Amino acid sequence: MTQELPQDLPDWAGLAATFGTRASRAESHLARVRGDASPVPGQPQAWVSPRNREEVRELVLWARRHRVPLVARGAGTSLDGESVAWKGGVAVDFSGMDRVLEIRPADQIARVEPGVVNASLQAILGPLGLFFPPNPGSWMTSTVGGNVGTNASGFRSFRYGPTRRWVTGLEGVLGSGEMFETGTLSRKRSAGPDPIPLLVGSEGTLALFTEITVRLAPIPPRRFGVLVDLPGNVTPGTVARAFQGRGDLGLSAVEWVDRSVARVLATETGWSLEGAHGALLLEVEASPETEGPLWDALGRELAGMGIPGSPRRIEDADHFWKARGRAGELLDREMGPRIREDVGVPLSQWDQLLERLEEVARRHGIPWIAYAHLGEGNLHPNFRIDPASPEAVAVRGEVWAAARDLGGTVSAEHGMGALKGAHFEEEHGRTVAAMLRSLKRDCDPDGILNPGKLYGPVAGPP
Ligand SMILES: Cc1cc2nc3c(=O)[nH]c(=O)nc-3n(C[C@H](O)[C@H](O)[C@H](O)COP(=O)(O)OP(=O)(O)OC[C@H]3O[C@@H](n4cnc5c(N)ncnc54)[C@H](O)[C@@H]3O)c2cc1C
Repeated sequence: MTQELPQDLPDWAGLAATFGTRASRAESHLARVRGDASPVPGQPQAWVSPRNREEVRELVLWARRHRVPLVARGAGTSLDGESVAWKGGVAVDFSGMDRVLEIRPADQIARVEPGVVNASLQAILGPLGLFFPPNPGSWMTSTVGGNVGTNASGFRSFRYGPTRRWVTGLEGVLGSGEMFETGTLSRKRSAGPDPIPLLVGSEGTLALFTEITVRLAPIPPRRFGVLVDLPGNVTPGTVARAFQGRGDLGLSAVEWVDRSVARVLATETGWSLEGAHGALLLEVEASPETEGPLWDALGRELAGMGIPGSPRRIEDADHFWKARGRAGELLDREMGPRIREDVGVPLSQWDQLLERLEEVARRHGIPWIAYAHLGEGNLHPNFRIDPASPEAVAVRGEVWAAARDLGGTVSAEHGMGALKGAHFEEEHGRTVAAMLRSLKRDCDPDGILNPGKLYGPVAGPP
């Protein structure tokens, strides 16, 4: 990956005069925003923490005047360098804009600032009987702004879909410095092309969001986790296909961990996980009336797939997902440096994908493990290799090629960041990629917003 060296930051005095102590070039501030959860090296030249849309506009106009990159940042948990200022510039830290501005229980809508942590929003909504459905594994730390920036998915996206489905309004500042508000509180709208799905997942390249309006869902009366050992004669692909379209089973999550990850989780939680093909982690949503019948139907379904024994029930679903969410941390300890991928394939291609990746690991002679949002064809293969090594580039390339060859995507939920931009055209097709580049130029004429991300390295935005 080539990288331009940052030049000296121009007009620091102007920035400091506007933001006072909320702008800094001190190492103590820069260190906090230098990297994210990826191996992409960052080199921010300043840190700024805006407090409202007007300040964000001031910052964008300043950056335009001096052609300085601005890289929006929530919690910095991105896995492909989405929130890293790898071309220098200012890290725009939204963690100080973390107010929940309004909750309308009757409409099941919340209006928040982008820096609100996903788990904090859930904690406020819980007593109202509501929740914000996207719950990525990083939900204890990641922000709603970051979830919107990457169109994050969560364990429950099997039932509820990705963040994009839950955003109904956005307010912010374009890279041109123009302020905008768009969206509706109506549950439906058919007023031409919808800009919100385009802005969701834009990784801070089109606009900086200052307010986000999201839809909420009612917490179901009963919600429990289910653990299932997957025997050697039942492949993950078989399970994924069997659960496809089965809304009648009340499943909100269909997750899979391979044998190695199951062992790590078992050590941490005390759960006994002994399947030769790892374990399924399911979640069922029910009412008091449907709970019994759904449990029985799930048991019959699993038996019908050839899975012996009784599934085990974990009553506290949140505890269940917190434990699963810690898997990454546990694997850091267990595996050390590794690359963490995020590919998606059609459900019919699950088992072929696993075979292709086994070949990749064999060819390079490196161990690998995997966990997945199984019901959505989204696999996270992790290869034990130094992410900064040249061989890691080759391994990543082979993983992406396998997913693409099987009709899938190189990025199912994490985004493209600095690592996957070269695949932009392949993912969208030439004509649509050109259209999206044109949108980028309209929104951000000087290319100051998160340069080097998305859009491809060739014929990209200015
Ligand atoms: C342990 C772990 C588990 C994870 N599990 C999942 C998972 O299950 N599903 C999943 O999808 N992802 C997962 N991720 C990836 C990551 O947590 C998500 O992408 C998350 O949404 C990022 O949120 P953040 O607040 O950290 O955003 P950041 O990383 O800070 O930013 C993400 C992107 O959003 C942009 N952005 C942030 N704020 C704004 C704003 N105000 N305006 C415009 N753009 C903005 C940034 O520029 C960047 O491009 C995981 C990561 C880790 C480390």
